[in-house]
Amino acid sequence: KYLEVLSILRKIVDNQKVNAIKHKITIKSDLNQAIILGDKLKIEQAFTNIIGNAIKYSPEGGTIQISIYEETETLNVSVKDEGLGIPEGESAKLFNKFYRIDNSDRRKIGGTGLGLAIVQEIVNAHGGKITVQSQLGVGSNFTLSFPKLSMEVQTSNNKEYTQGKVSYRIAVVE
Ligand code: ATP
Ligand code: MG
Repeated sequence: KYLEVLSILRKIVDNQKVNAIKHKITIKSDLNQAIILGDKLKIEQAFTNIIGNAIKYSPEGGTIQISIYEETETLNVSVKDEGLGIPEGESAKLFNKFYRIDNSDRRKIGGTGLGLAIVQEIVNAHGGKITVQSQLGVGSNFTLSFPKLSMEVQTSNNKEYTQGKVSYRIAVVE
């Protein structure tokens, strides 16, 4: 299925409203239309976990900036928070099952340590990858990158849209 990333992200942020009321969440897109090919429930799960973490590990009033942008080969979604951040050297371990950071600043925050392991599995299964940049006490930026759709896939269908100067045709967009 072709998935329209912006509407998925809007829906997730909307669903988080009860939590999100204490945070300022913005979604910014560089693209007229951002489409990825994938499993809708899984992609929703991945974004939900990442946005949920940004909310959970940020103080009240923190800003969370979600951005959609492209690079040469990839379509990226980044979720940047002004939260607790991640200690140096711990970033790679976060994606291991059940791994949680045990710092006094987050001891009271509950969780199983599975969220990011699941995100990584989903993103990998879609041919993408997840990376993180973070500074302890400053904030974190998680980036999910997906392979761009090839022209061939895009033109073999029937709903038209434009991205930059190029027009595409797409069959099923949800
Ligand atoms: P859950 O299974 O409920 O998601 P969790 O949030 O502890 O539990 P992960 O989502 O896998 O598990 O995250 C692993 C650890 O990485 C967390 O315990 C937290 O310390 C750290 N972490 C994840 N996201 C952020 C973030 N946005 N800012 C700071 N730390 C984070
Ligand atoms: Mg989590």
